Amino acid sequence: MNNILLTGFPGTGKTVVAQEAARLLGWAFMDTDLEVERRAGKSVAAIFTDDGESAFRALEAEALRDACAERDMVIATGGGAFIDPSNRELMLRSGLVVALEATPETIGERLFHGGGNGHGHANRPPAERPLFRGADPMERVRGLKASRQADYAHAHWTVHTTGLTVAEAAQEVVRAWSLLRERAAAASELAATVHSSSGPCPVYVGPGLFERLGELCRAAGLTTTAYLFSDPAVSGRHGRRAQLSLERAGIAVHTLTLPQGETTKGLDTLSECYGWLADRRAERGHFIVALGGGVIGDLAGFVAATFNRGMPVVQAPTSLAAMVDAAIGGKTAINLPQGKNLVGAFHQPRLVVADIDTLATLPARELTSGWAEAIKHGLILDSALLETFEERADEIARLEQPVTTEVVRRSVAIKARVVTQDERETLGLRMMLNYGHTVGHALEAATEYGRLLHGEAVAIGMTAAARISQAMGLLDGAAVERQDRLLARFGLPTHFPEADRDAVRRAMLTDKKTTDGSVRWVLLEGVGQAVVRRDVPREIVDAALDDILL
Ligand code: NAD
Repeated sequence: MNNILLTGFPGTGKTVVAQEAARLLGWAFMDTDLEVERRAGKSVAAIFTDDGESAFRALEAEALRDACAERDMVIATGGGAFIDPSNRELMLRSGLVVALEATPETIGERLFHGGGNGHGHANRPPAERPLFRGADPMERVRGLKASRQADYAHAHWTVHTTGLTVAEAAQEVVRAWSLLRERAAAASELAATVHSSSGPCPVYVGPGLFERLGELCRAAGLTTTAYLFSDPAVSGRHGRRAQLSLERAGIAVHTLTLPQGETTKGLDTLSECYGWLADRRAERGHFIVALGGGVIGDLAGFVAATFNRGMPVVQAPTSLAAMVDAAIGGKTAINLPQGKNLVGAFHQPRLVVADIDTLATLPARELTSGWAEAIKHGLILDSALLETFEERADEIARLEQPVTTEVVRRSVAIKARVVTQDERETLGLRMMLNYGHTVGHALEAATEYGRLLHGEAVAIGMTAAARISQAMGLLDGAAVERQDRLLARFGLPTHFPEADRDAVRRAMLTDKKTTDGSVRWVLLEGVGQAVVRRDVPREIVDAALDDILL
């Protein structure tokens, strides 16, 4: 929206309101009628008389085309310009079109008597207004206005100026411009919407979004008190921005900073969180904001699922892994000494706000690890996304914009689509997201979660799964090499000789996803095409494990 264009019936105040709106915004002003007069060297009335209405319309269209090519300009257009379909289309494409409206009586007052809250001063007597020549100008106003009304209804916004001063009408125009520009910006940052049994959850991804966290919460109906959960690494770098934004939106904020690391996702911290909320008399109508990586997201999400029998949660992921994976889909959990994620709940966030700028402070190894999940989404369901990763790997690895935001958005959209189709993992679709996870989880468990980051383990797991896919006759060698090459370009590991094969095999058989001793393998039938198979022979698995553990 580069310009504001005012349309409306003669006498609604387009020229004077445009001048005032331009002054308020510090923009340039232009009036297409005045421009036509300047170019023709005579008045509009004279052009009508000497050359006819069609000559005037041609000059008007030309002036309008030139004006629409400008930026930051408030343009008052002649009342008839918007009636022409090609002018109308051009105007609607070039900026915010505001139709000014007024009653016929107000219009008559302004046009023929120079009155009406200051709107009249720029006007001319009926004799100089070719459209209103004749015996009963008011009759002409009513008839012509009625015939044009349906066309003016195509404008983006309407301001009724009867009863308003010029200044007030101009303020209304500027208000409409701010509101619609904000909406358009929000819509362009909307990466996806997860639809679930608890309603829609918009997922916003973009740079600088924490500045707008409060505004986005308000737009999602969250307006009261927020409990901001974070850890020291994140709160020190991004907490203040998030907190100030919430406060600017009139939301009271309490902050809780929990220790970093996976052990935070345990019963002790959970109990501490419940006590902290109870002490602050948190209510069901309040909400939790999970600002951090997947650890904070899972813990704060589980607290929100259970405290007061459930309260809203906003996921504000700051690690890449949390942006493209953990924050989306409503899975929340804590760990028990007996195993990871053993206690949890499905609890969809009300809103996800991922500020891409936070990735700049993420430790390099965490960033690399996060790319594994994003690349995985391309491998299983979107070959075009995979191609972007291949073609722009260096720029993406350096977090250059806008390509980084674009690939995160597209990756997020894939997860959101799968979750929408299979909210509770009952249809087998969500299973596709586990590509690389069978071996990946087993590697993490066999190395006691101390050696590999999750994404690194998934990258090695995808390497094994691709080899199994090839041995099963599903995938050709070229595709396997393509995947290997891409993972290597992002600095992800594809082999892990330090792990013990038997320990990995045992861990695979005790995984949650293994039923009756049969492992469900997510394999590839091609790039961007995942398939689930239970019939993978042991020798093929062993050969793939030998390969990655070499
Ligand atoms: P994490 O939450 O431990 O974050 C990694 C580290 O990076 C932490 O030390 C954190 O303090 C730091 N950090 C995060 N953002 C930062 C930033 N912008 N700047 C500086 N430091 C930053 O790890 P993770 O990989 O984000 O998440 C892993 C967790 O997510 C695991 O507990 C896993 O079980 C869970 N998970 C959940 C789901 C789900 O669907 N709910 C899916 C995948 C993983």
